[in-house]
Amino acid sequence: MNAIDPTLLEELRAILGSEAIVSRATELKVYECDGWTVEKSSPDVLLMPSTTAQLSAVMAALSRRNVAFVPRGAGTGLSGGCLPLNAPAMICTSKMNRILGIDYDNRRVEVESGVVNLHVTNAVKARGYFYAPDPSSQVACTIGGNIAENSGGPHTLKNGVTTNHVLALELVLPDGEIVELGGPTEERCGYDLVGAVVGAEGTTGIVARATLRLTREPENHRTLLASFPDVDTATRAVSMIIASGILPGALEMMDQLIIRAVEDAFHVGLPADAGAVLIIELDGLEAGLSASADAVAQMTQSCGATSVKLASDEAERALLWKARKRAFGAVGRLAPNYATQDGVVPRTCLPQILRVITAVSRRYDLRIGNVFHAGDGNLHPVILYDEREPGQVQRAIDAGRDILKACIEMGGSLTGEHGIGVEKIGEMPLLFSPDDLRVMTELRHVFDPMNRSNPGKVIPEAGACVEVSTPRRQVPI
Ligand SMILES: Cc1cc2nc3c(=O)[nH]c(=O)nc-3n(C[C@H](O)[C@H](O)[C@H](O)COP(=O)(O)OP(=O)(O)OC[C@H]3O[C@@H](n4cnc5c(N)ncnc54)[C@H](O)[C@@H]3O)c2cc1C
Repeated sequence: MNAIDPTLLEELRAILGSEAIVSRATELKVYECDGWTVEKSSPDVLLMPSTTAQLSAVMAALSRRNVAFVPRGAGTGLSGGCLPLNAPAMICTSKMNRILGIDYDNRRVEVESGVVNLHVTNAVKARGYFYAPDPSSQVACTIGGNIAENSGGPHTLKNGVTTNHVLALELVLPDGEIVELGGPTEERCGYDLVGAVVGAEGTTGIVARATLRLTREPENHRTLLASFPDVDTATRAVSMIIASGILPGALEMMDQLIIRAVEDAFHVGLPADAGAVLIIELDGLEAGLSASADAVAQMTQSCGATSVKLASDEAERALLWKARKRAFGAVGRLAPNYATQDGVVPRTCLPQILRVITAVSRRYDLRIGNVFHAGDGNLHPVILYDEREPGQVQRAIDAGRDILKACIEMGGSLTGEHGIGVEKIGEMPLLFSPDDLRVMTELRHVFDPMNRSNPGKVIPEAGACVEVSTPRRQVPI
C-alpha cells in the first residue's frame, strides 16, 4: 500500500478544492482517535467531499495509486473504528449532510451519510414521526457511522437496531464505483447486500446516501424510575418484566457509580443512595398503558425495588432521558480516562455477568461503572483508568478482555452496538472459527479486493499487528 505523494495531493486538491483538505500535522491531531482513546494515530491527510461525485472521484484517485483510506463520520465511535491504521487518507463525510427527501406516505427519508442522527428526527417530528435508532450520542453521530456500526440506543429494544431501519444504500466502492443496494420497498429478493454493508464498519466502501425507514411516534408514554438496593435485584426485575410479555420501548440500567456521577454533574434528582436504577419506558396506544405501567411497578416492587416513580409530565420524562443519555459525559468527572466496553449476554445472565464485572474490577484494582441497555442484555461497563499511571492502560485493556470472554462463555457476543474496530479485533477468534473468519474475509473482498477500505479493522488478518503508541495485542488466526 502506498503513501500520499505531492502529485496525488495536487490531484485531490483539483477534485475537492484546498478548503476541503487538511494536511497540516497540528490540525490532523484532532483526528487521531475516536471515543476509544486508548490508541491514537493521525492520518496523513483528511479529505472532506461534499457530494457523491466528489467522494467517488477521490476514491478513484486513491485507488489508482493504491492508497488505503479510513472513513469517518463524527468520530464518536467507541471501538477505534476510524483510527487510521496503515491508511494514510481519512475521508470524512461531515460536508455530506443534506436531508434529500421525506416521503411520509411511504414512511421513509433519504439522507446523505454525514447527516447527524438527531437531525433526521428533528426534520420529521412535527408530522409525528421519528427515526428509531437513537444512540446516546445522537446529537453528534452520523447516519453513516450508525450504518457502519449497526448502532442501537435506548429505544431499540422494541424497534430494532439500525439494520432494521435501512431500506437502501448508495455505496461508493473502494475503486470509486458507485453502486445502489436495496430499494425503497420493504420486501426484497436476492441476497441482502444492504445487510452485509450495515455493521461492516467501513470495510466495504463508503456509504454516500441512505434511504431510512421512519417510525410513527407512539400515542403516549409512561416512563418509570425504579430504585433498587443493588444491581442483582434490578436485573431480576428486568428478566421478570420481559418474561411477563410486556415489551417496554426502553429498559435501561445505571449502577451506583454512574448514578452518583450523573447526579453530581446534572442534579436531575436520581436517588443518590440507590444501588441501581431502572428507567423503564412503556409506549403505544393510550388504552392499556396505565394498566401496563401498574403491572411493571408491581413487578419491580416484588423484586425488591425501594421506590418506583412515574414521570408526571413530558418535562420529567425528558429529565430522566437527559440523565441516561448524558451518563457517559458525567463519567468524565470520575477519572482522567475511561474505556466503554460493549458486550452482550442473554438477559437472564445479567446478574451473573454483573458479578463477574465486580470481580474483574477487584482483580485489576480499577473502578468499573455500569450503564446499559438492560432489556437487550447489552452491557456497557465503563472502565475508569489514568493513562499517566504506569500499567493502568494495560490493566484496563485486560479487564475489558476478561469481561468480553465471560460474555462469550455465557452465550453472548462481543458487541451489541459499538462494533469491533481495533479494540476487539483480537477477541474475534474467541467467537468465530478460522472458517467463519475466512468466509467474512471473502465477503469483504467482493467489495474491497485490495483491503484498502479501513484496513486492520473487524476481521483479523494472518500475521497482522500494527504498531501504535500503546500496547496492541497480536491477532492470531
Ligand atoms: C457519549 C457516547 C454515547 C454513545 N452511545 C451509543 C449508543 O447508545 N448506541 C450506539 O450504538 N453507539 C453509541 N455510541 C457510539 C457511537 O456514537 C456510534 O458507534 C456511532 O454510530 C458512530 O457514529 P460516527 O458518525 O461518530 O462514526 P465514526 O466514529 O466516525 O465512525 C465509526 C465507524 O464507521 C465508519 N464510517 C463512518 N462513516 C461511514 C460511512 N459513511 N460509510 C462507511 N463507513 C463509515 C468508520 O470508518 C468507523 O469504522 C456512543 C458514543 C459516545 C461518545
